[in-house]
Amino acid sequence: MNIQELEAPGYERVVFAQDPATGLKSIIALHSTKLGPAAGGCRMFNYTSIDQAKTDALRLAKGMTYKNAAASLPLGGGKSVIIADPKTDKTPELMQAFGKFVEALEGAYYTAEDVGISVEDIAEAAKHTSYAAGLTEGPFGSGDPSPVTARGVFLCMKIAAKHGLGSDELHGKTIAVQGLGHVGMNLCRFLHEVGAKLIVSDINLAALEQATSEFNATVVEPDAIYAKEADIFAPCAMGASVSPSSIAQLKVRVVAGAANNQLADDHCGKLLDDKGVLYAPDYVVNGGGIINVAAEILKISEMAWVNQKVETLATTTDQILSKAIANDSLPHQVADQFVDQILASA
Ligand code: NAD
Repeated sequence: MNIQELEAPGYERVVFAQDPATGLKSIIALHSTKLGPAAGGCRMFNYTSIDQAKTDALRLAKGMTYKNAAASLPLGGGKSVIIADPKTDKTPELMQAFGKFVEALEGAYYTAEDVGISVEDIAEAAKHTSYAAGLTEGPFGSGDPSPVTARGVFLCMKIAAKHGLGSDELHGKTIAVQGLGHVGMNLCRFLHEVGAKLIVSDINLAALEQATSEFNATVVEPDAIYAKEADIFAPCAMGASVSPSSIAQLKVRVVAGAANNQLADDHCGKLLDDKGVLYAPDYVVNGGGIINVAAEILKISEMAWVNQKVETLATTTDQILSKAIANDSLPHQVADQFVDQILASA
């Protein structure tokens, strides 16, 4: 395997590995290990060039620094990408070669699942590295993080409701949930249990039927969810769904959901604020999943540790939103400042 350093100002280390025997082409980006070893998933995607893959790895690695710090984890930010089509190019040998690549960083980076990478794939990688998490087997195997993510989103949503709607009581409130996947469906369950009314959208009919029968949810077409009259919009599908065009349609007072990178760009935070919509910063709200993975990395088996950390996400959301409201500033910028302070004093 040929491993070569790539130039990336502002990043601690970025490495590119190529293994002709298995076809592996992969980049690991370490943004910051100030708080601890870098942790972040591995994404497999059919990138059109090494440059495109590197850009994605850099963006995602930096995002992990912020997410891990906001979740008060002793972990830094990193991410890996594999340049391959997950439908046609993935083999056990390729994932094992990736495991060797991770191992070569000697614990500076822990990998886990991300888009295009399953629990089985990580299990293959783990045959050649001790620095893989998100496994179902083993004494600290943490399994599917989605229910934990959903619980964190639910708790942070209550805090956002307290600030944006005047009460953290979600009974009788209408929540528009976009995306009924691993996190969205679990979130709907929490919301239904406390008596919230649900409006849902997805492109998967089976998920819509489940939400209707289990939670009495009202189904709308994917593009119609933005314009629905509701108290809270919860993006739980893809990134960038909070865009100038969707913001123009929103009839809610709070946005709080699980999706990564919800704001299509930085200016969307201002557009939400101008419209009087309170935004609960995504990487704080959706930190439950990485907390669950962190327990495995840190070899902690007590669920109480995970639960306490997830509850802290709500406290952090509370501090960020209180400060944003008091100073008339934008919540996503206050969240960034909050993390920058943690990093500066580390
Ligand atoms: P998932 O793939 O299980 O679910 C996504 C759902 O969105 C699917 O049901 C899909 O059909 C639906 N969808 C896709 N396009 C849509 C559209 N245009 N309109 C409505 N629905 C659409 O993913 P997930 O694990 O539930 O994650 C959801 C989001 O939360 C993602 O952005 C993910 O990055 C983020 N996230 C997940 C976790 C986790 O623990 N799984 C942790 C942090 C962040």
